Amino acid sequence: MPTTSAAPVSVPMPTVPRRRRSPEEIAAAAPVAGDKRVLLAAPRGYCAGVDRAVIAVEKALEHYGAPVYVRKQIVHNKHVVSTLEERGAVFVEETDEVPEGALVIFSAHGVSPAVVQSAEERNLRTIDATCPLVTKVHREAVRFAKAENHILLIGHEGHEEVEGTFGEAPESTTIVNNPAEARTVEVQDPDRLIWLSQTTLSVDETMEIVNILRERFPNLQDPPSDDICYATSNRQAAIKKIAPQADLVVVVGSANSSNSVRLVEVALEYGAKAAHRVDFANEIDEAWFEGVASVGVTSGASVPEVLVQDVLRLLAEYGYAQVDEVVTAEEDILFSLPKELRAKLKEAGDGTRGLGGRGTRPSS
Ligand code: SF4
Repeated sequence: MPTTSAAPVSVPMPTVPRRRRSPEEIAAAAPVAGDKRVLLAAPRGYCAGVDRAVIAVEKALEHYGAPVYVRKQIVHNKHVVSTLEERGAVFVEETDEVPEGALVIFSAHGVSPAVVQSAEERNLRTIDATCPLVTKVHREAVRFAKAENHILLIGHEGHEEVEGTFGEAPESTTIVNNPAEARTVEVQDPDRLIWLSQTTLSVDETMEIVNILRERFPNLQDPPSDDICYATSNRQAAIKKIAPQADLVVVVGSANSSNSVRLVEVALEYGAKAAHRVDFANEIDEAWFEGVASVGVTSGASVPEVLVQDVLRLLAEYGYAQVDEVVTAEEDILFSLPKELRAKLKEAGDGTRGLGGRGTRPSS
């Protein structure tokens, strides 16, 4: 059982003392063999899009009252979902599970136009908590399809975000899951071709796929700006710095969180001797610490900081009390709340406009 089930989604100030250092300082101060320390990645945890989506559900519960229906997990994190459920959110798979006329929130991963239409047909009131950076990819898909391009959408088939983006232009889109598919995918007109991607992929693997595609289709166009979002890139960059010095990396995040799973892969690829993903501190296995001096810790973009603090407390109990925060970027991105909710908050005199990156700002 999770030990953290009673903790709120809102994140308290970190309680484990740590020093903040640049990656270069950390490397220069490498401990003698046997010294135990934690290398804590920054940025980590909540991104602006997740923060916005979670606040949207919290505010909807506050201003409309329970139940508030949410299509799919609002963000891919067990703790966040169970905490919101306790407050009155009801998570459903599809809009046809929502009673006619009720309020439903679309998750941060986005929805296809077919889902919006089905909600309209059922007279549902909707709040769209799709991350603006996912919406950006949707708009690109619509624009390039209208201009009669074919879209190679790099992403994981079946992931909600990919389903939503694909649904914008299904006739003009082919999903490319991996390098093997990039080697075999067939297109009608190689001169009217653009690649787009899911926002939470491995930066390196995506570029490998793009390179394969470009070799086969030299006129392949790039998206107007990066589709892999700042939060995914920053969290991967931070763990890349830590991994070569880590005997073990612990990634806090859920199994269905694409960017959390990618962090485990990136850590191993960049030299961590072992890497494991956990939802909660109590999933950490004592056997992982055998012969381990340095433990890297990070968390996916849907993970509240309270769960990382639980892991740090447990590591301190195992003798890893020295925490060096490895800072590779500062994040201060804010997204305003969904427009449907902003209007309601204004009416109610609630001054909340938007928050972002809760839990990602390095503590000082
Ligand atoms: S991971 Fe990126 S795309 Fe996804 S919600 Fe966060 S900021 Fe938005």
